[in-house]
Order: sequence, then C-alpha cells, then structure tokens
Amino acid sequence: MITVTQALEALFALVRPLPTETVDLRQAAGRVLASPAVARRDQPPFAGSAMDGYALRNAEATPGARFRVVGESAAGHRFDGTPGPGECIRIFTGAPVPEGCDRVIIQEDVTRDGDTITLGDTLDKGMHIRPAGADFRIGDQLQAPRVISPSDVALLAAMNVPRVPVTRAPVVALISTGDELVLPGEDPGPDQIISSNTFGLEALFRALGARTRLLPIARDTRESLFSCFELARGADLIVTIGGASVGDHDLVGRVAQELGLDQSFYKVAMRPGKPLMAGRLGDAMMIGLPGNPVSAMVCGHVFVAPVLRAMLGLPAQPAPRQSAPLTEALPANGPREHYLRAVLTPGGIAAAPRQDSSLLTVLAEANTLLIRPANAPAAAPGERVDYLVL
Ligand code: AMP
Ligand code: MG
Repeated sequence: MITVTQALEALFALVRPLPTETVDLRQAAGRVLASPAVARRDQPPFAGSAMDGYALRNAEATPGARFRVVGESAAGHRFDGTPGPGECIRIFTGAPVPEGCDRVIIQEDVTRDGDTITLGDTLDKGMHIRPAGADFRIGDQLQAPRVISPSDVALLAAMNVPRVPVTRAPVVALISTGDELVLPGEDPGPDQIISSNTFGLEALFRALGARTRLLPIARDTRESLFSCFELARGADLIVTIGGASVGDHDLVGRVAQELGLDQSFYKVAMRPGKPLMAGRLGDAMMIGLPGNPVSAMVCGHVFVAPVLRAMLGLPAQPAPRQSAPLTEALPANGPREHYLRAVLTPGGIAAAPRQDSSLLTVLAEANTLLIRPANAPAAAPGERVDYLVL
C-alpha cells in the first residue's frame, strides 16, 4: 500500500492541464486566472484629491493665509488652468488636482466668505493628494495563476480588463455504484439507502470550480457499469463511488480495466479511505473513491480537491494544513494515516468520539479533519496536531 503523499504524487502525475478560455469580467470570480492580466492605464490616471477642500500651493499654506477661489475641480470635470499666487481652486474628492497645486487644504480647516477663504490657525498636516499611478501603472500585472477573488475583480475592472483569460472548468462525471442506492426524494425499499456522498462530492467539486455531470446510478452489473462509463465520455475526470473493494459485487476496477484503464495505484494507507484507485482512462483521468459516505468525502477533500486545483493550473500541492493544540488526549495511531472528524474551537481541537466511516452526522458536525501520521504515539492535551479545514 502506498502512503497518502505517494498517492497524491501519483495523482498529480495523471493530471493533464486544461486549455484556457476568455470570460467576461462579471463571470470571472472564482475562476482561475490563466495568464497575467495587464493594466491598460495608470490608476489614478492623474494626481487626484483625496478630500473635499481647496487646492493651492503648499509654500503659501500658512495659518491665517487668505486665498481667492478662482475655479472648481470636481470628479470628472477638471479645472483647466494654473491658479496664480494667492489663488486657490475649490476641489472635491476624486477630482484632478490643478497644475501648480501640490496641497489640498481640507474644507474643515477653512472659513469661506464669498470668493475668499482664510486658513485656520492649525492645519491638517496631510497633502491629501493621490499621485498619478499610486495604485498601479500601465503595464503592471496581476499574477497568474490565482483564484480570482471579488477584490481581484475590482482590480481587473480598474485595470480596464473587461475580458479575462481563465482555465476552462474541469468537467467531472460522477458515477455512483450499488444495487442498494436510490436518489434523494425517491421511495427507498426496505433494503435500500439514499445515495448521499454523490451529492456531497458534487457540491465540493462545484465549489472548487468544476462542472459536474451526475450520471445514473450504476447497478452492480458489468452491463450497467459499462453503460455509465460510456455516458462519462468527454469528461476530464471520472469519479466513481463505491464498488472498489474486493467484494464479489465490487466491479468498478475490473470494468474500468476492460475499458483500458491504465491503473496508477489501488489502495492507500489511510483511514478512512483505503480502497482508493486512480489511473488514465482514454482522454480522462479516473479516480475510484470508496463507497462509505465519510470515506468518500474525506478522499474528496484529501485527493480530488488538490487534483482539481492542479487541473485548473494552480500549484500541485496537498490540501493546506494548519495546526492547533489538542484539547483532549488521543490514543496511539496504527500503521495508516488517520483523518479524524474534529471540532476546532478557539481553545483547540478535539476529535469526535465516534469515527465510524458511515456516520455523516459526525462529519456534518465537524469543521476540520484532524490528521494523525502513521504510527503516531499517543498524544496528550496541549500537543499540536495538523488539521485540514472542511
Ligand atoms: P462499496 O464500496 O460499494 O462496498 O460501498 C461501501 C459502503 O458504502 C456500502 O455500505 C454502500 O452501501 C455505501 N455506499 C456506496 N455508495 C454510496 C453512496 N453513493 N451514498 C451512500 N452510501 C454509499
Ligand atoms: Mg457497492
């Protein structure tokens, strides 16, 4: 059995980069910027006022000095001209600062009488001018790759980039397998259960930027599996759920191999999630997840999420880990890396008492997966442990 780290490396080796497409700025949030975006102008394009007040020469700005107001500069409407000595310009936030002026006296520091202003006894020290290009210069770049955040969208707009190069969304086909499964909303028979992790995984993949295709549930027959794989054609990634252990009804690996799966590995030394399988199947990558609801979701976070990020052109890295002190003791771990459903609070992290891999309630209560390395010794409260955020 290979380790989680080895499995991830093998998975990254199976990833083929996806092509780039261009989307409207308004559709860009959450997508991955595929190549650097280049500013098409300086921002601000002119030296602008940061306050409402009066623009004048700093050299003349002494307490009590008087100035004649000879014009106005408002946002979108500059004052064309250069005020002379003893002259000033009424100015508003965002307006271009007139030629010759290098300071804005805020209006609170001024008394005005008709066209004359008198500066107060104490003046705010600031110049209140934003120099041209203070935010960015023409040619400056927003670096790629990156997940485009709402802040990035604002910056791209300011850079006058209306169309954004992004990585095409990976298409993920999900195949659930099992004679016992029915869809949520259907009437299950006494021996049936609802297909659950399929929907949890779909939500996870979508949140990561994938486009998902939910295929019909494959029954535990070769024919049914063949036809589901057939329907998965065109997907960048095929994710199967269940049918991957060695039971009589676990046909996924066999059928995939008959279809030409170039298998990379099968089985990872982890808990939960041992029967994980991956390879290339034609133009697609395939990951076979275990069927147990929690195992499937944990493998989604630990393996599929990093694979989707890599497909999107982001660095091929494991899910980011953080660490926190334990609030409760943990027993020694066995030979497989263990991902425990845990609750992180400001005081530290505690593993849930029940860890059976079928318990979705415990997963829903958890906000983290606490990671215990293979063969870790018992751990006392206060000891720091790694975790993934769910
Ligand atoms: P399998 O790997 O097919 O043997 O499945 C292991 C366990 O997970 C069995 O108890 C299945 O009933 C259950 N299971 C498999 N697929 C799903 C699914 N999509 N949703 C919920 N439970 C599932
Ligand atoms: Mg099954």
